[in-house]
Amino acid sequence: MLNFDISLLPTPCYVVDEALLRNNLEILKAVQDRTGCKILLAQKAFSMYSVYPIISEYLAGTTASGLYEAKLGKEEMLNGEVHVYAPAYKKSDFKEIVTIVDHIVFNSFEQYEKFYPDVLKSRRNIEVGIRMNPEYSEIETDIYNPCFKNSRLGTVIAEFPDTLPEGISGLHFHTMCEQGADVLERTVAAVEEKFGKYLHGLKWLNFGGGHHITREDYDIEKLVEIVKRVQEKYSLTVYLEPGEAVALNAGFLVTEVLDVLKNGMNLAITDTSAACHMPDVLEMPYRPNVIGAGMPGEKTYTYRLGGPTCLAGDIIGDYSFDNPLTAGDRLVFCDMAIYSMVKNNTFNGMPLPAIVWCGENGICKTIKKFGYEDFKCRL
Ligand SMILES: *Cc1c(COP(=O)(O)O)cnc(C)c1O
Repeated sequence: MLNFDISLLPTPCYVVDEALLRNNLEILKAVQDRTGCKILLAQKAFSMYSVYPIISEYLAGTTASGLYEAKLGKEEMLNGEVHVYAPAYKKSDFKEIVTIVDHIVFNSFEQYEKFYPDVLKSRRNIEVGIRMNPEYSEIETDIYNPCFKNSRLGTVIAEFPDTLPEGISGLHFHTMCEQGADVLERTVAAVEEKFGKYLHGLKWLNFGGGHHITREDYDIEKLVEIVKRVQEKYSLTVYLEPGEAVALNAGFLVTEVLDVLKNGMNLAITDTSAACHMPDVLEMPYRPNVIGAGMPGEKTYTYRLGGPTCLAGDIIGDYSFDNPLTAGDRLVFCDMAIYSMVKNNTFNGMPLPAIVWCGENGICKTIKKFGYEDFKCRL
């Protein structure tokens, strides 16, 4: 099932699998090829820049949430477009941003007015856009919903001027999260209804991220149809900027069981922490899959897995196994390439997981190892 031998790896470690990553990238590239749209890697989800050269074989570039991600995209994905959107820019950052990027999306017309002179002064050919808030989304968790009441993300139609000011060549929306093309279809309808009059005459329209294009049940035909229709109707280029979909199910987190104990049920402590190494497990929250394990009670031995920190709630979830767990056993959490290495932390002095690359030949290479200095240097 796995392309690599977990007994040989340092733990904890993230493993990203080349064959799985390329498989996702092929799917995304096919969407580009069939529609002429452009797809960018949203680095917020996955910034493992050692594989940017591979990603650049397939995608059109990167998008960033600010100066640092923009710099990373510029430095590491050669020949890729560099896009940036931030809820608000800092003057000091913006000076450098205009020397790097190809597209800048502003969150408000106030930000546009403040910074557009700097764009002109840069004398670089930068596309400028505004993020709209279409006040339509189907996300039920507020923390991930950019359209919840009084959201700061994007400009609502009530705040749009009658005509777009000078230099704005595109618009952007981002209102989806792990969703399908059916949600996109309804979202685009809402965007057209509210913002339709601005779309004619634009050069580009950015559909944001949250498109789960590489998930097995994703309706790619519908996506292709929507992108083609919008591009033809308004004669513009559509951009998609998925994060998750690029590395969805392409990575793992390998851990070792440190101890097993009992308190009303079987407990196991691993050398990986939910709080430090997979924070979305607590934030979302969700229960990551473990290879070979079932739901609690499904197999003979059920354990609650928890991390080695002092946080009582550092619980990964309940899992059942065919055999009892013992110290030294290794476990593999699935879908751990995205929103993991970019969000991890050294709370409680926890070591950061190593980053391992498993090539198509099955040979693993440790890209990065972390130690005590990585903890100390931030404090
Ligand atoms: C988070 C985000 C993305 C990527 O979202 P995914 O859910 O990882 O696909 C793209 N664009 C913007 C503006 C974002 O905030």
